[in-house]
Amino acid sequence: MALKIYQIKDGVYHIHESMDVFCSLVIGKKRALLIDTGYGFGNIKKTVSGLTKLPILVLNTHGHLDHVQGNSAFKDVMIHPLDMALRKKHTSLQFRLVSWVLAKKQGASLSDISLLNHVKADSSSVTTINDGEQIDLGGVTLEIIWTAGHTMGSVCVLDKTNRILFSGDSFSSLVWLFLKEACDIPCYIKSVKKLLSRIADFDEIISSHSAARFSASFLERILHCAENISPEKSTMYDSKIAGKALLYTEGLDRLEKRYGLKSFAEFMSIAKKLSAEEVADLELCAIAYRPEQLTGC
Ligand SMILES: [Zn+2]
Ligand SMILES: [Zn+2]
Repeated sequence: MALKIYQIKDGVYHIHESMDVFCSLVIGKKRALLIDTGYGFGNIKKTVSGLTKLPILVLNTHGHLDHVQGNSAFKDVMIHPLDMALRKKHTSLQFRLVSWVLAKKQGASLSDISLLNHVKADSSSVTTINDGEQIDLGGVTLEIIWTAGHTMGSVCVLDKTNRILFSGDSFSSLVWLFLKEACDIPCYIKSVKKLLSRIADFDEIISSHSAARFSASFLERILHCAENISPEKSTMYDSKIAGKALLYTEGLDRLEKRYGLKSFAEFMSIAKKLSAEEVADLELCAIAYRPEQLTGC
């Protein structure tokens, strides 16, 4: 099945891999960088080969299964050292079976891959990449910015040439900070501030679970949300796949004014019917967290 490709700019693509997972591709004059590889259900390699014949480098924004299980199709993969162990765990047989069952439950199309191929051991060579390192694609240079929060080794990719920040799972309408591999809220706030200090370098933010293109100023809303998390104003959140958490949301006033809805859960029930532009323009911020994460770091 052909994957849906969104062209962002000349040589920049956001690709829907499977379920609610997107990968991004930035093409330079000498090579291209694929940011994340999805679950491995969508034959991302074939799609990328149709967009460029240049050598492909792969970067994982973090080690979660929905960003790394497609790595097996590629030779060379880079990840932040603090997510190396998480990537190993999430590409194991056990986690490959988890994603297969999840895909079946969600009715995802698995026609491009067999269970045997999906659980095959990953033979790609993995190297580490650190905060501040540059990736030269020829005419386009990308910078890695370490943004601990969603996981300890989460990174964003700054494309100063195209003025885009690729944010992985670190910044979007819903940020999961409640998993055991996440860091505390003060640590996440430090990461948001670090990116805000670079806001002159990008105009838009592209994340891993949406076609929405957020404006750079969305980071200010996320910072406000993270700094004002209140357990009293939070609601219960059930991720269905990764456990329960508290959810603090800001932007509900805009949600009510535009759509007559009052909660993030109501937003989720209509989100698929909204256009990517509407979701981006709403700038709703919800953070799922555990109360003990409010202090520390
Ligand atoms: Zn994640
Ligand atoms: Zn994800």
